[in-house]
Amino acid sequence: LGGSISRAIQQMSNATIIDEKVLNECLNEITRALLQADVQFKLVREMQTNIKKIVNLDDLAAGHNKRRIIQQAIFNELCKMLDPGKPSFTPKKGKPSVIMFVGLQGSGKTTTCTKYAYYHQKKGWKPALVCADTFRAGAFDQLKQNATKAKIPFYGSYTESDPVRIAVEGVETFKKENCDLIIVDTSGRHKQEAALFEEMRQVSEATKPDLVIFVMDSSIGQAAFDQAQAFKQSVSVGAVIVTKMDGHAKGGGALSAVAATKSPVIFIGTGEHMDEFEVFDVKPFVSRLLGMGDWSGFMDKIHEVVPMDQQPELLQKLSEGNFTLRIMYEQFQNILKMGPIGQVFSMLPGFSSELMPKGREKESQAKIKRYMTMMDSMTNEELDSSNPKLMNDSRIMRIARGSGRQVREVMEMLEEYKRLAKIWSKMKGLKIPKKGEMSAL
Ligand code: GDP
Ligand code: MG
Repeated sequence: LGGSISRAIQQMSNATIIDEKVLNECLNEITRALLQADVQFKLVREMQTNIKKIVNLDDLAAGHNKRRIIQQAIFNELCKMLDPGKPSFTPKKGKPSVIMFVGLQGSGKTTTCTKYAYYHQKKGWKPALVCADTFRAGAFDQLKQNATKAKIPFYGSYTESDPVRIAVEGVETFKKENCDLIIVDTSGRHKQEAALFEEMRQVSEATKPDLVIFVMDSSIGQAAFDQAQAFKQSVSVGAVIVTKMDGHAKGGGALSAVAATKSPVIFIGTGEHMDEFEVFDVKPFVSRLLGMGDWSGFMDKIHEVVPMDQQPELLQKLSEGNFTLRIMYEQFQNILKMGPIGQVFSMLPGFSSELMPKGREKESQAKIKRYMTMMDSMTNEELDSSNPKLMNDSRIMRIARGSGRQVREVMEMLEEYKRLAKIWSKMKGLKIPKKGEMSAL
């Protein structure tokens, strides 16, 4: 995706006469790329029309930075499409709010309920969870397990089959206990059916939620619009959470969900764990949609932490996508020299928590030093190879012996390398922006 967009833009900047035909060609290519990212066809069309209105052909012809103008217009337009124009209901600490979660089965409701509760609990709220899913066997157990792990009070039943009744009892119970965030988890069913929407309508009518959150799996593709619209028609959806953003999906369906519900995305789910949950931020999301990672922030940081004279080489290597152990070693050297580069890497999708969790910089540094000691026992061949199969058991044992570390630790380091290499490989062929070029985005 990133490739085809940069190609399209490249095409633009090469053309000497910018006329409508070239602009159309460029837009058509971006259209294809956005469709691949699951953005709804109708929305892509809309964007196309708007871009044509915004991008002034005379400006382009007058020799301004064409690539920049088009890139910026597309970026801004997508950001605008994710903004429904009004914020969602925001609960207030200390005042009871009822938050109802809806979405199809498997979209991540139960997991997200707990994440949402846990997120607020850490900020001093008193959340509670109500399981109004009486449809799926095991639903209550799942919620109970999650809630227990996070030490959040919960309510549910193994025998009661009426979801409305449980929802009402749960909400009342927790209102009495002065909980300020009463979260109602609901049933999903595997497909959209009338009975599900009727049930949602009844639960909503009985519990009078202050906010209904539509939970959407980022990988549902083009189905997002109809799904979101169907829920919106039965309950008043006021916010969207997009889950499984740690997977392959770019999440273009979020644009559909916003359009269908006229509500903002408020959080994204980035993993199965309780703390893999982030406040939604439009710009990095759009960057990812366009296959760019959060390049704007990332490049600014790289310019800050990597010495100027080393940059061309590093950036070149990154765009080639051959992330060898030696490059990782050099990165680690930079990290130790320059301080908390964790911040830098955490801007790239998928890079977040594991290697350098926030607030634990000291531990991370010790770990990096340990990794480097092990890498000091590697041969040049090993450091420069991009063949993952090269590191067989006997090499691993030799490295462990040579560095005085455990085999387990060498394996852990190699796992880390694989994880990083996978992420960098996505950047292959990417046009590396020069300093300042991306900062306007
Ligand atoms: P529900 O049927 O809507 O309640 O969905 P669940 O909460 O039971 O989630 C379905 C599956 O998706 C479970 O295996 C979850 O662990 C998984 N899941 C939920 N959110 C995420 C996420 O953000 N990332 C990943 N990788 N998995 C998730
Ligand atoms: Mg569930």
